[in-house]
Amino acid sequence: MSRGSRIALLAAAAVVLAATPAAGAALEAVAAPLESLYPELERTYQELHRTPELSSREQATARKMAERLRALGFEVTTGVGGTGVVGLLRNGTGPTVMLRTDLDALPVEEKTGLAFASRVVAKNEEGESVPVMHACGHDLHMTCWLGTATLLARAKDRWRGTLMMVGQPAEETGSGARRMLGDGLFTRFPRPDFAIAVHDNADLPAGQLSYTPGFALAAVDSVDITVFGVGGHGAYPHTTIDPVVIASRIVLSLQTIVSRENNPLDPAVVTVGSIHGGTKHNIIPDEVKLQLTVRSYKPEVREKILAAISRIARAEAEAAGAPRGPAVTVRDSTPATYNDPELTVRVAEALRRALGDASVHEQPPVMGAEDFSEYARAGVPSVLFWVGAVEPERFRGAAARGERLPSLHSSSFAPDPPRAIRTGVLAETATLLELLGRP
Ligand code: ZN
Ligand code: ZN
Repeated sequence: MSRGSRIALLAAAAVVLAATPAAGAALEAVAAPLESLYPELERTYQELHRTPELSSREQATARKMAERLRALGFEVTTGVGGTGVVGLLRNGTGPTVMLRTDLDALPVEEKTGLAFASRVVAKNEEGESVPVMHACGHDLHMTCWLGTATLLARAKDRWRGTLMMVGQPAEETGSGARRMLGDGLFTRFPRPDFAIAVHDNADLPAGQLSYTPGFALAAVDSVDITVFGVGGHGAYPHTTIDPVVIASRIVLSLQTIVSRENNPLDPAVVTVGSIHGGTKHNIIPDEVKLQLTVRSYKPEVREKILAAISRIARAEAEAAGAPRGPAVTVRDSTPATYNDPELTVRVAEALRRALGDASVHEQPPVMGAEDFSEYARAGVPSVLFWVGAVEPERFRGAAARGERLPSLHSSSFAPDPPRAIRTGVLAETATLLELLGRP
């Protein structure tokens, strides 16, 4: 970012803060060191980007987060639910507010061409070597989270209560939140009054924020189906029961769940992402394996879809005279992310005061999923909001040309750190100051 546009950004923020004297004064004072802090935050971001770690293996990342929090005076516990980190800053009587960042990266080979691009290769759960990249922006989340922790720790005279910083592993595999909760996140540590998370957004220009009251991200279920047939010679199909044909019928029949059985006003997705069977042209295999992802919002819709998948798989196998019914397993289920509507409105108003009406938008829900949903399911009013990641000129250019920008999880995803980090830190700080007690 040029010096001129940086000054313009700060000036815009200052105008907004000045327009709301009472709330603005506290935020202005707390956020004042952000500019002097920024170069260090950008270095942190680049270092995290260069050294990504796979889900549940975030040892070095967790260590860095723990060290930084300790240096700021937080009481830090590591190894919560695997590699999770919990930092507490107790500052008198008042609400406990949790701010969550995720720690993990993805098995993606980076193709951004950035000077600080990842060249990391690591072993996955199956022991295979895979490239690793922060392709979902969790490095950006950690950077904002550390920036916010720094500002709040330096301004303890401006708020009261307990700040609970949670570094959560394994978001991408949907297991980290559950494991932290299972390891006593809300019993060994103070149970938060509110939980907040921020995720970057590849469809939103940097400098902008968006939020969705109520259901914001979908529930996800992974479903494995194994179809059993009777294998044999490809030239003598009448002596076999062909599981490739049964699996093909299942894939097509599954498409009618959303199009014919589900209420069109209830969002749902059934995708068969993988189909594997057989070894050679002229061999009919004994079995075929399918892998599905299922997305929904309402619990009753989810139940109905999962039941329909089993019914269709069973019935197609029976129609073909299969020797036995298919094995259907549902795993890695994550509930839909529900933003507490009252809390969302309160946070959105604080964000508007901090960054201006033009920078904060309500947006429709998405079919992606987030295991941040587990904290709401555990009974804590929660909000996840989006921080824009795309360099604004690039965003406008792409929109004008009808070009598709790299999505999250893309090997080419590269956020705009100067704007996204500043906006993320300001937004998180404004939210925490709104929810923590006043001195
Ligand atoms: Zn992701
Ligand atoms: Zn993510």
